[in-house]
Amino acid sequence: MRSFQFLRGPQVTQFESAFAACTRVKHCISTGNGTDGLFATIKMLGIKAEDEILVPAFTWITDSEIVSLCGAKPVFVDVDSSYYTIDPSLIEKKITHKTKALIVTHLFGQAADMSALESICKRFNLTIIEDCAQAHLTKYGDNYVGCLGIAGIYSFYPTKNLGAYGDAGCVVTNDNRLALDIRRFTNHGTLQKDDHEIEGFNSRMDTLQASIILAKLPYLQEWNEKRRLNAEHYNSHLKKIQAVTTPAVRPDSKHTFHIYAIRAKKRNDLKDFLADKGIETMIHYPKALPNLTAYKHFAHTPSDFPVSSLLQNELLSLPIYPELKLEEIEYVCEKIKDFYGK
Ligand SMILES: *Cc1c(COP(=O)(O)O)cnc(C)c1O
Repeated sequence: MRSFQFLRGPQVTQFESAFAACTRVKHCISTGNGTDGLFATIKMLGIKAEDEILVPAFTWITDSEIVSLCGAKPVFVDVDSSYYTIDPSLIEKKITHKTKALIVTHLFGQAADMSALESICKRFNLTIIEDCAQAHLTKYGDNYVGCLGIAGIYSFYPTKNLGAYGDAGCVVTNDNRLALDIRRFTNHGTLQKDDHEIEGFNSRMDTLQASIILAKLPYLQEWNEKRRLNAEHYNSHLKKIQAVTTPAVRPDSKHTFHIYAIRAKKRNDLKDFLADKGIETMIHYPKALPNLTAYKHFAHTPSDFPVSSLLQNELLSLPIYPELKLEEIEYVCEKIKDFYGK
């Protein structure tokens, strides 16, 4: 505050370098939020009206709304029933001559099936963009997510595994040209002082937010580790309950449990019951994207996306934050047992 560099202060570049190093990518371009990062990426990839982009049916609306905002069409693909990420076996029949790219979300901190996606996308010449907003330091094989496609976008919304005290986001990429294009586009179309090479828009991470996530970044691995331990603890206590399915972890990957969601019978009643016992739970997400009012013009029915439509009715997110105590996890599990024991 004393320096008065509320925007473009040195902490912004420091954060960009630190986050690029930490996720092992060449470039990190900070943005005002994750949604802006995806918008800038899609625009700079040249996606335009009439193009079709494949999007998971079960994710946050950013991935489809940004496609529409660029004038293109989001084409929904159902997710798989074990890991809840886009199902590679359903992709081929959604591809047309207009399909240009695929947006993949590493949902809840779970890495998507990247090797299957890569081989399909290579065959049909589709660009992969990764939504890593819930997957800070999620690993797929030996790599962190974000460098498996052309670019990855992150959000530092306060509840994310690395959270600012307001809005913030970034794009990471190993592509020099794309990095420069995104930097220019998010800075009113200019990289120099006296000229604007193109029209762009304005999206920047402010210095205060950069300082906060820069200070938090060294703790991220440790916090993720605590989330994983919490998840194991839940799994061991909940596995005997027939009516509950605990989350699976994709082999050869490292889940970061942004969200720990169980599938539960009588989900809404369980949610109310737990609220009554002082346990706050959440629903991610109450409606799959194709079932939202915003997409009623596509006239999809829930049976077009059976897995997503089932997940919207069964998933319940339990508290998973790193500071959660083991006794608290045991208390939650005990109450879940009580509910089904009745
Ligand atoms: C949070 C989130 C976003 C959007 O991030 P903002 O910073 O809020 O714009 C995008 N995709 C997913 C999957 C998210 O969870």
